[in-house]
Amino acid sequence: MLADILIVNATARTMSDKAPRAEAIAIAANRIIFVGSMRDSDRFAGPDTRIIDAGGASVLPGFVEAHMHLFGGSSSLDELDLQETEGFDALKAALLEQGQSQPDADVIVGRSVNYSILGEGTRPTRQDLDRIISDRPVFLRSGDYHNAWVNTAALEMAGVLKGHDVGPGSEIVVGEDGLATGELQEFAAMQHVLSRLTPPGRESLGLAGTEPEDLSNEERQSDIALFKKGLSYCASLGITTIQNMDGNLYQCELLQELEEAGELKCRVEVPYHFLPSEPVENIENAHAMAQQYNSDMLWSGRVKMFMDGVLDAWTAVMVDDYADRQGERGTPLFTAEQFNAVSTEADRKGLQISVHAIGDGAVRMTLDGYEAAATANGKRDARHRIEHIEVVHPADIDRFKEFGVIASMQPIHAPGNGCFPKEPTVHMIGEARWPYAYAWRTLKDAGAEIVFATDWPVSPLDPLLSIKHAMLREPWSENDPDQRLTMAETLAAYTSVGAYTCFKEDRFGKLEEGMLADIVILDGELPEDPDGSSAWPHVRMTLCDGRITYEAGASS
Ligand SMILES: [Zn+2]
Repeated sequence: MLADILIVNATARTMSDKAPRAEAIAIAANRIIFVGSMRDSDRFAGPDTRIIDAGGASVLPGFVEAHMHLFGGSSSLDELDLQETEGFDALKAALLEQGQSQPDADVIVGRSVNYSILGEGTRPTRQDLDRIISDRPVFLRSGDYHNAWVNTAALEMAGVLKGHDVGPGSEIVVGEDGLATGELQEFAAMQHVLSRLTPPGRESLGLAGTEPEDLSNEERQSDIALFKKGLSYCASLGITTIQNMDGNLYQCELLQELEEAGELKCRVEVPYHFLPSEPVENIENAHAMAQQYNSDMLWSGRVKMFMDGVLDAWTAVMVDDYADRQGERGTPLFTAEQFNAVSTEADRKGLQISVHAIGDGAVRMTLDGYEAAATANGKRDARHRIEHIEVVHPADIDRFKEFGVIASMQPIHAPGNGCFPKEPTVHMIGEARWPYAYAWRTLKDAGAEIVFATDWPVSPLDPLLSIKHAMLREPWSENDPDQRLTMAETLAAYTSVGAYTCFKEDRFGKLEEGMLADIVILDGELPEDPDGSSAWPHVRMTLCDGRITYEAGASS
């Protein structure tokens, strides 16, 4: 058989045990038909074969981004990035410039805002923001996407200047004067305000587990355009598979439309987002979604839940008190009884489960739920996951292997490791828990499978940036263990293990004959043993399902 595409002169890391390195890869239609040496690859070259000379650069299986939010991430491409912004004057300049550049926007939205952007120990207030812009709503999301700060115009337009009950776990914070301070805690509060400022706000509905209502064709088309933009961005970073971590039927419909038009540039998994307020019977909805969407380009089959919030707001659930707040341990979003019942039912229906659990208390409750499911239904190859695991209790480390639970972690989220500042988080965790914080190596050594991702748009999507920071992470104190994985293990956490977590390890995630052709070609070699001064390559070309989805320098 002749190849449609033949990649030669490659330094390929196949992620395969059979032959970890290769020089040439041949592709016909959407499959890899050969992986091996230059000499043996000649026979696949025909008159119509496109030969791609990798010039000795690294070639890898396409990246699996195992935890991200495609809708929110795509729309964040148009939002003001405030990650590097510090202090009132810098914030003022950035917001005014954004306001001028988007004169028709209903609301000025900024993202990646540091909790202490206006000074250590303070949070932005509506009055702070009013001093910058008072005649238009301003909505600033925190870097972790769990909180927002808004001005008075936003509160008034949303009708919540005197506060509003948005349900348990979320809060429109009200000050002693009986008026909202401008801080919105957690999704329900943020969504309540944002949806009243700007219809759409549709990008957040997957987190609320709800569907948009009364959509015009124009709105639908604008969402499709947004998805296309987001997917192209993913392809430009070498991503070939996305595990979306929020979901509703609307997103599935849009993605299916793209698939049918041949415009789906990445494989996408969409979960069913299960809320604590839902009855256990609703797991049937997740099951129905899995039945309906089950192609190799677009599938469902996972239940996503939140067990807790985030460390910086003391909403992550800890086994013991926060180091900086006596008596505070956070409040879980599910009761143990309820979560065990939901897990057991989802597991019984053959669904996978992913639970956001940041504090060691939330991690423990999630493991308890998986154990309850295994006890009720029998142990099986379920591949349930825990998302984030920013702190794990030492007593729970071995339970990951015992119940086959996959640890889904974000290297770039470790405070001080490339994206989020060290303080106040490190201080809140407390030194006694540092050895068990963002403990990839500790969990892997205990037999857990580790999968890496970014939680985009919570942190930058670029897998190579994330891999780089994973490799360069430094301990917070000399007493802490080195939590880094090797380069090979780190790459596996972005490729083969990603495929394993979707039960598709026989389809992609490795460069092997017979696999689907998901490949990324870099423009240089990955450093073997990187240090701070190593040069890092960029993505030159991405192939998903045998098609070129990105080529540097080519117009998309
Ligand atoms: Zn997430």
